[in-house]
Amino acid sequence: MAGIPELFGSMVFDERTMHERLPKDVYRAVMRTMETGESLDSSVANVVANAMKDWAVEKGATHFTHWFQPMTGITAEKHDSFVSPAGQGRAIMEFSGKELIKGEPDASSFPSGGLRATFEARGYTGWDPTSCAFIKENTLCIPTAFYAYSGEALDKKTPLLRSMEAINAQALRVLKCLGVEARHVTPTVGPEQEYFLIPKELYDRRRDLIYTGRTLFGARPPKGQELDDHFFGSIKPRVLKYMKELDEELWKLGVYAKTEHNEVAPAQHELAPVFEKVNAACDHNQLVMEMMQKVAPRHGLVCLLHEKPFAGVNGSGKHNNWSIATDSGMNLLDPGDNPAENDVFLVFLAAVIKAVDEHQDLIRISASGAGNDHRLGGNEAPPAIVSMFVGTEIEAVLEAIAQGKDYVADSVGVLDTSVEALPNIYRDTTDRNRTSPFAFTGNKFEFRMVGAPNSISDSNIVLNTITADALAYIADRLERGECVTEVVRGILHDNGRIIFNGDNYAAEWVAEAAKRGLVNFRSSAEALPHFSDEKNIDLFERHHVFSRAEIVSRTEIMLENYCKVVSIEAQTMIEMTNREILPAALAYMKDLSETALAKQRLSAAASLEFETRLVTKLSALCDSICDRTDRLSTSLREVKNHAEEASRAKYCRDTVFDAMESLRADVDELETLVGEKYWPMPTYGDLLFGV
Ligand code: ADP
Ligand code: MG
Repeated sequence: MAGIPELFGSMVFDERTMHERLPKDVYRAVMRTMETGESLDSSVANVVANAMKDWAVEKGATHFTHWFQPMTGITAEKHDSFVSPAGQGRAIMEFSGKELIKGEPDASSFPSGGLRATFEARGYTGWDPTSCAFIKENTLCIPTAFYAYSGEALDKKTPLLRSMEAINAQALRVLKCLGVEARHVTPTVGPEQEYFLIPKELYDRRRDLIYTGRTLFGARPPKGQELDDHFFGSIKPRVLKYMKELDEELWKLGVYAKTEHNEVAPAQHELAPVFEKVNAACDHNQLVMEMMQKVAPRHGLVCLLHEKPFAGVNGSGKHNNWSIATDSGMNLLDPGDNPAENDVFLVFLAAVIKAVDEHQDLIRISASGAGNDHRLGGNEAPPAIVSMFVGTEIEAVLEAIAQGKDYVADSVGVLDTSVEALPNIYRDTTDRNRTSPFAFTGNKFEFRMVGAPNSISDSNIVLNTITADALAYIADRLERGECVTEVVRGILHDNGRIIFNGDNYAAEWVAEAAKRGLVNFRSSAEALPHFSDEKNIDLFERHHVFSRAEIVSRTEIMLENYCKVVSIEAQTMIEMTNREILPAALAYMKDLSETALAKQRLSAAASLEFETRLVTKLSALCDSICDRTDRLSTSLREVKNHAEEASRAKYCRDTVFDAMESLRADVDELETLVGEKYWPMPTYGDLLFGV
């Protein structure tokens, strides 16, 4: 392997490469666009395209693709080769500015939520010069936005870019009032990605994993994560090899993969990159997920990104670490040594407090989906109720402001380990709170509700927009001459209820949150329709992030997806029950009965009690399974009777899902009774401890 510095970014048309290969003025124009989002003169496109192509061909690329992020949440590509006829039966490698700037994939196969009638299939991809092109498997990938013939966004990148412009505009207004010089403000994001690794040969024997990404059946093994022995535990050799190769693949693509460790559950791991601008972070997280899945089979493994692949075992999330920085690198959420007198910090913190309190619904919705419903509210994941943790020191600072008192800092203590040999370690001014869905962690917020397979665009579009809106409110006040303390105090008075530093898993919190009037959407079916509430349409239109039509269509897509996921899971359960599980139980009962009869022939005195009891029990359980499978089939057939997406989703949640749960309970019990060699698929124990 080449040295890591040479390897890093070797497949990216990055700043360094552009500096080497582009004429100075073109390079400067591209850099300006990358830094400030300023639009790029189309005359430079030809120059950039040609340089990109030469570079890519030297690296062995033969094709190019507009790489985009449709509303399916994953990335899409359509490959074209560089080859062009050159007369006399010869070919040359060509790539024009026009091909760089605009593509026209057939849009009819991507979800549009009614934005585009199927006969009106035209959709365009447009080059996003703020994100670097890269080579993946001999293909030059050009990050692009995807939109309809009518101009509406059909993807996750366009609204993200718009939300970045919104927060930039409002943050600059606030900074100007505070006398801080900045040309540009951008959100920064570092998403920690959790995942499971299981042996491929076992995965291949589970239809539920293949069709739905999670296990729909499975009795709990005697050992799960009770002993807390996996987190940060030593990593198994096969997994270590996987992680090493994954790191290398990601480094080549310019992703700063930094930390790899085991997570809480057996077979669960995490990768954290170094944070970067939100647009690049979103693109890179898509690559991280893609590479995680691509590299796994090379090691005989499968990477599961589902939010809850195994019931009763920790789920997988994505911690979206989010902050805001100026072009000179000043982190606007850095409290510094003296937060009580740091106006910039206090104002931006207040903006986030106001934003999160006023738009709890949107935060919840941004992490919604059928998969995440299994995770949120479980005792290891953030609850479905949104609240904020700020830590003891910041809370004391805010308290002092709210009460109009001076803040007296607690002296920062040296940690006493009572061991002379250990160096002195200064205590952080606050401990961590692992139960909070939205925690301030020193100089950034960590939003923990996002599910492992989700695009982080959704939550960042929301975070950027709601913060932009709060900043606009603050800028209005400051521009009118109100002082910082007054504005912050007002926000704490109005929105302070969102701050909760206690245990978010406790039952008392649910009651307390209700008392505070916080939103509690227990399921995604309940949450998603609220995306189109008038309040939200106003907000997104005000900041030019989504039009009304875009919001309505997105709501529809999310609800439709919810119903489809539940329906596919239900159908998979029915198929597995009828074709694998019941036949296995029958085979076992047949053997038991034949054994009993043979025994009786041998000796009339032999007891048949065990066989009789077990067959009776199994038989009763199979009757119940049969009934419950019928109930599930019936409920599934009725889905289509609900014309409205929202009521269909609610029905899926209340009725279909309920039927799935009761069928599962029976089958899981059956699994504990049927002989091992009869059971038709790998068990939880096999899957979780198989690597
Ligand atoms: P944890 O302790 O939560 O496991 P770390 O402290 O290692 O995680 O950091 C988590 C993530 O936060 C990393 O991806 C890191 O790059 C990111 N991060 C750090 N500072 C910022 C920032 N200013 N803005 C956004 N993300 C940040
Ligand atoms: Mg974290």
